[in-house]
Amino acid sequence: MNLLLIGPPGSGKGTQGERLAARFGLEHLAAGDLLRAEVENHTELGQQVSELMKRGDLVPDKLIIELLIPRVQAAVAANGYLLDGFPRSVEQAVEARKLAETAGAVPDAVVYLDVPRAELVRRILARAETEDRSDDNPTTVENRLRVFDEATRPLIDYYRERGLLHEIDADQDADAVTAAIVRVLPD
Ligand code: ADP
Repeated sequence: MNLLLIGPPGSGKGTQGERLAARFGLEHLAAGDLLRAEVENHTELGQQVSELMKRGDLVPDKLIIELLIPRVQAAVAANGYLLDGFPRSVEQAVEARKLAETAGAVPDAVVYLDVPRAELVRRILARAETEDRSDDNPTTVENRLRVFDEATRPLIDYYRERGLLHEIDADQDADAVTAAIVRVLPD
């Protein structure tokens, strides 16, 4: 099975992504984590994206796609992928679909984690107390939420029209959210 996990910053993609990947035996590919690893390792790609990430802007489509393709291919050759944080725009979805169709890697379902804005801000700023992410500060959070609304939110309709979307109320504790997702997914 191949799954996409979509949601604004703070919606719990990372937590749910890990749980779902473990439960269904999928490869968890978290776009943000892969990019942060590039930054930490001072790779060429890391240097190209670090300022954009600090500001909460999207990195160029070409870079994120190049980073993900080999990993998606490997996951498909195994038991499938759980992609968290990609695609983040309709453009990325269209490009990914072209590549995925030839590789038998199209998603079987898309899960959208829906959380009210005030709760997102609360969660991210709480996380900032324990984790050291350079983009978890009030100014950048505001920008990341705006980027979600402008670039990523249109994906919800895009996948709904294709009959792939499962909308989940993610304003509940993590166990309840996992249970709600598992209920809607194909066995
Ligand atoms: P969050 O969803 O909390 O913002 P992520 O870890 O998913 O956190 O992403 C962190 C940052 O990584 C984003 O703000 C963006 O700069 C970059 N990024 C992640 N995924 C993508 C993507 N698919 N396309 C472009 N940039 C991305």
